[in-house]
Amino acid sequence: MSYRLVILGGGESGVGAALLGKQQGYDVFLSDAGYLNERYKTQLSESRVEFEEGGHTIHKILSADEVVKSPGIPEKNELIKAIRANSIPVISEIELAYRFKGDAKIIAITGSNGKSTTTSLIYHICKTAGLDCALVGNIGYSFARQVAEDPKPLYVAEISSFQLDDIKDFRADVSLLLNITEDHLDRYEYKFENYIDSKFRIILNAASNDYFIYNADDEVITNKLKQITLHTNLLPFSMNYEPNEGGYIKGNNMTLRLHDERTTWSVYDFALKGKHNQYNTMASCIAAMVMDIRKEKIRVAVTDFQSLEHRMERVATVRGVEFINDSKATNVNSTWYALESMEKPVILILGGQDKGNDYGLIEDLVKEKVKAIVCMGVDNSKIHKAFDGLVSPIIDTASAEDAVNASFHFADKGDVVLLSPACASFDLFKNYEDRGRQFKEAVKNL
Ligand code: ADP
Repeated sequence: MSYRLVILGGGESGVGAALLGKQQGYDVFLSDAGYLNERYKTQLSESRVEFEEGGHTIHKILSADEVVKSPGIPEKNELIKAIRANSIPVISEIELAYRFKGDAKIIAITGSNGKSTTTSLIYHICKTAGLDCALVGNIGYSFARQVAEDPKPLYVAEISSFQLDDIKDFRADVSLLLNITEDHLDRYEYKFENYIDSKFRIILNAASNDYFIYNADDEVITNKLKQITLHTNLLPFSMNYEPNEGGYIKGNNMTLRLHDERTTWSVYDFALKGKHNQYNTMASCIAAMVMDIRKEKIRVAVTDFQSLEHRMERVATVRGVEFINDSKATNVNSTWYALESMEKPVILILGGQDKGNDYGLIEDLVKEKVKAIVCMGVDNSKIHKAFDGLVSPIIDTASAEDAVNASFHFADKGDVVLLSPACASFDLFKNYEDRGRQFKEAVKNL
């Protein structure tokens, strides 16, 4: 009897896992409670993978030798409970990809914020240096699919906490932990500690010749590090002190130190602006040095990198008013960094679906930099409660077009209109990309 692999969820990672499992000779069955997109259905059919959609056939699932759970499915799901009760092992798609990646190396990036930016920058540096590598993971391209269809000697992988929850042997040669702030607590029994543990699983299997690059200015990370024993090489990065090995930014200079090498560059050369991006760039440079990439190549790559859509993306300047799309800022911490990097007066577009936001975190920056708040959401009461009396005006809108028009109305020449909502987008938009695109469209129509 062949090994029966059941995949739950038919999104990018589930379909990728199914294709890899099939290629490796498993008896694969994919099941999704919702509906798959046509492209995925065609791919599964062409590879002769059996699948179902619109519901789960329990007996077909409980006959599995192993289950691959898509990251979106919570542990409290009834089906997962039944699978656990039957003692069927559950893994994530990155674990499956790891199993078949051969000798390839992995650079794995996690954190609450900055993952996609840092992953893309590291990938860009590796490509600039001529390395044969692939960009995979949470960023939208399944790691398993890449291993099945076009295996590479190096994978640059964005990894979310949900993906880490179900790893067993997954081990990265270089792991990065950018920061940890409260997010997704609904999936972690509302215990921050559980979420922290999940992020630290990135080094669960780290060995003595692997590297762990981490933010030493993040107290959540440093406190956790004090409690655990590690058998890997630590490379901290900081803006507060200069580590013996790792990275350090003081004033306008970044210093990198690894083995006997020491390099100092001006942060003015970085393509990515803002303090948060200085952290992301520093972490990326250390990873590149670990990979033995020549300093000249790293420097060229961090200078000419193009920032990603929806992350502090400069959209246009209309009659002296600059518009920035930071739609990807779906939590208060991201908005904090966006505001922190602003040098001109800001009209801030805030709001959407609240995830238990504590706006107190941005109160000081709002007081200092924001001259008007334009709420864009179905329910804006929490924003009013947090900022009434601090900022005036605060007005309500319920579409990207109205929000852009209102912001433009309040803006003077030399101001910035910043869409950095601190909230999820699902009340008014399909997702954060849809929100960002509608914002850009409205700016174009001004
Ligand atoms: P992720 O993939 O972790 O969601 P992104 O790179 O897509 O992160 O950035 C998401 C948002 O977080 C952006 O709006 C950006 O302004 C903010 N951000 C990026 N890097 C950091 C960082 N190091 N610390 C805090 N916020 C950040």
